[in-house]
Amino acid sequence: MSDYVAPLKDMSFALKLAGMDEVAALPGYEEASEDLIAAVLEEAGKFAHGVLSPINWDGDRNGAVLENGVVRTAPGWINAYHQFAEGGWNGVPFDPEYGGQGLPWAVATAVNEMWQGANMAFGLCPLLNQGACELLSHYGSDDQKRTYLEKMVAGQWTGTMNLTEPGAGSDLSQVRTKAVKDGDVYRITGSKIFITYGDHDLTENIIHLVLARTPDAPPGVKGISLFIVPKMLVNADGSLGERNDARCVSLEHKLGIHASPTAVMAFGDSGGAIGYLVGEENRGIEYMFMMMNNARLNVGLQGVAISERAYQKALGYAKERVQGKPVGFKGDKTPAIIGHADVRRMLITMKALTEATRALAYYAMAQFDIAGRHAEAEVRAAAADRVALLTPVVKAWSTDVGVEVASLGVQVHGGLGFVEETGAAQYYRDARIAPIYEGTNGIQANDLVFRKVTRDKGAVAMGCIADMRATAASATGDLAPLGAALVTGIDALEAATKSLVDSDPVTVAAVAYPYLRLFGTVAGGWMMTKAAVAAQAALAAGEGDPEFARAKLATATFYATNILPMAGGHLAAVQAGAAPVLTMTDEQFGIDL
Ligand SMILES: Cc1cc2nc3c(=O)[nH]c(=O)nc-3n(C[C@H](O)[C@H](O)[C@H](O)COP(=O)(O)OP(=O)(O)OC[C@H]3O[C@@H](n4cnc5c(N)ncnc54)[C@H](O)[C@@H]3O)c2cc1C
Repeated sequence: MSDYVAPLKDMSFALKLAGMDEVAALPGYEEASEDLIAAVLEEAGKFAHGVLSPINWDGDRNGAVLENGVVRTAPGWINAYHQFAEGGWNGVPFDPEYGGQGLPWAVATAVNEMWQGANMAFGLCPLLNQGACELLSHYGSDDQKRTYLEKMVAGQWTGTMNLTEPGAGSDLSQVRTKAVKDGDVYRITGSKIFITYGDHDLTENIIHLVLARTPDAPPGVKGISLFIVPKMLVNADGSLGERNDARCVSLEHKLGIHASPTAVMAFGDSGGAIGYLVGEENRGIEYMFMMMNNARLNVGLQGVAISERAYQKALGYAKERVQGKPVGFKGDKTPAIIGHADVRRMLITMKALTEATRALAYYAMAQFDIAGRHAEAEVRAAAADRVALLTPVVKAWSTDVGVEVASLGVQVHGGLGFVEETGAAQYYRDARIAPIYEGTNGIQANDLVFRKVTRDKGAVAMGCIADMRATAASATGDLAPLGAALVTGIDALEAATKSLVDSDPVTVAAVAYPYLRLFGTVAGGWMMTKAAVAAQAALAAGEGDPEFARAKLATATFYATNILPMAGGHLAAVQAGAAPVLTMTDEQFGIDL
């Protein structure tokens, strides 16, 4: 079984490209020196390689199980989690006041990518806990922060996100879980499904963040409130009290991420789980959006991470497997399949897409840091707009790419990719959830076109397009063909954006997904062109690793010539409008009207 090796060089490069120098200059991030970041990444890489990666395959085979009402995690999980918490890894981006390391989110992003790449099923636990910590940091009362946040930042307790119900998946306005006031607390009753790490044996307490509706709440999303529902109640002195009335009643059997317990949760079977209101009643969705946006970017990062893992595995296999002489090969000893042009095509596609999605995800997180801390309000606002625009793109594009790259990984292995022993199949199965949870990619596309692009008549999108054009203009000399390819892609994105702004909502909804793919494809080209310009400059100045820079130029060129041109196809779909999508009538679909 191959081990995960953190791609530290590309991670550091992507951080720099994302504007790490600017991030490190933000108030509160003075400690984030280049040396410190390099040391953090190196240590995280060792942990991912040495502790998380070795238990990934066994985790897949054994999974988490529910035994006599107790969820037991896969072999090795408890030990790995304890090391993870003791290492302070959960607290990387959080305020030192609550025991965090106070490092930028951009740095935490690189670190988080390693957990997801080494072991996605394990990485989900800190992914959700970090989102819960972020939410409580912003909206928790002082008392709630004192009681829960410190222990969650330390990883001593973990947080969950309880949104989904049988009748409320994409449409959270249908949430029916009830919250009835009972003195200072609320009694929560209802059922939640698909709750990641809803129960486990890693920590002594689990802090559920639960969406529920009070009896007199208005209908729809405006009547949903947010509650803290701890698995174990917490006494005034911080010690653990009684078991709360919240239980995992079953675990789902899934296509992938077997070791991540996906729980059906019952709240209030014995009279009502005790819940504590976060903020004000009826503002739960607004608060939860902070956690969801954080999780969306991090789920996008899972797409990047699983692509990296699949690429490493496929590359290793392609260097060893011998099968047939490559066209044009003249030697005596048949080389490995990496000598075949088609295998190289698959590998460079995997590498280029991984690097492009990584660069975009890190860039979005650097903008997130700027939005939170820059001294000037105008800069903060512009960065916040950019993050909001890119969040659905990072989430949906990177996760779809994750599935495609993992699929190529299976293909490189031939028949052995389809059988379980090599591990390539696991990455493909694990990758498949990311386009579904945290808002399906269809919902992300809707978010992009309606809330992020057409609502302001394309203003924020056009600002991003202007930055893309500046990058294209900087690709001169040997890089001029890359700049020209990027301009073609940007022209397509601009034309599609204008056509969306001028379209009716039915058309916008029908072309939302091709528009999102177009955006991702061109944004990836933007990042790869930036990367090529930086690599060229480093080569010219004799700085850094010349082999790394040359490889970056090769992947950027491949992206410009083989991937970016797909923008034209996506534009065609957007410009075709709603009609082709709606061509099939209800009758033709066999819908009995
Ligand atoms: C392994 C796993 C872990 C999960 N973890 C959590 C968790 O920790 N916490 C939690 O609360 N939830 C969790 N979920 C739930 C997850 O977020 C939902 O499954 C997801 O939001 C989709 O909801 P649904 O399954 O009901 O699908 P549906 O909403 O029924 O969607 C079905 C299809 O219809 C499409 N669709 C629906 N509405 C629209 C629309 N308005 N426009 C266009 N297309 C639409 C969707 O894109 C999708 O293709 C998890 C799910 C899984 C499988």
